Amino acid sequence: MNAADHRLVFATANENKVMEVEKKLGGAIPLRGLKDIGCFEEVPETSPTIEGNAIQKARYVAEKYGVDCFADDTGLEVEALNNEPGVYSARYAGDQKNPSDNIDLLLKKLDGISNRKARFRTVICLIQGGKESIFEGIVEGEIIHERRGGEGFGYDPVFVPEHQPRTFAEMSLDEKNVISHRGRAIAKLREYLQPE
Ligand code: IMP
Repeated sequence: MNAADHRLVFATANENKVMEVEKKLGGAIPLRGLKDIGCFEEVPETSPTIEGNAIQKARYVAEKYGVDCFADDTGLEVEALNNEPGVYSARYAGDQKNPSDNIDLLLKKLDGISNRKARFRTVICLIQGGKESIFEGIVEGEIIHERRGGEGFGYDPVFVPEHQPRTFAEMSLDEKNVISHRGRAIAKLREYLQPE
């Protein structure tokens, strides 16, 4: 690792995610991913909450690698299911982390339930000079009865954001980013890092 490199670290192994978030931060805040600092191990995320996982990941990287960094964690919270799948969103139907299996299980659990209210929630934990800050982005919506659309990932085909006619999977990435949980959390991070 280059000690003179002070670029903020985004605690993710996914280089596409680093580029995408860098773009959403307006290009003025250059980022590094975990591979850039020589972190190739799996960063622990064993907390029972979304915020707990974001904090755990950010602290692990900040402490072990001595860098300023931020980490994010996201979950889908369904009101009628006591906010399930929440922190377990990726592995709802099992450790194979299969998005289609996850949707099948969700639709099965909601079968016959009229309250379809749900929200996506992203929490970002930023650690700069040892100081921790938390940013949250939420999009409210509902789970429909069958899949619609081929864009996006995860639960996008069954999630319709409020005041929208389309599912996330029927929107382009740019359209989704304007209203999405992740887009909103990153907008708050950007405002904090670069107040206008
Ligand atoms: P992560 O914390 O960003 O890895 O998200 C955890 C899990 O939540 C993902 O594996 C997906 O199942 C779900 N998820 C997160 N963001 C989205 C989204 O924007 N659309 C659909 N599903 C999502």
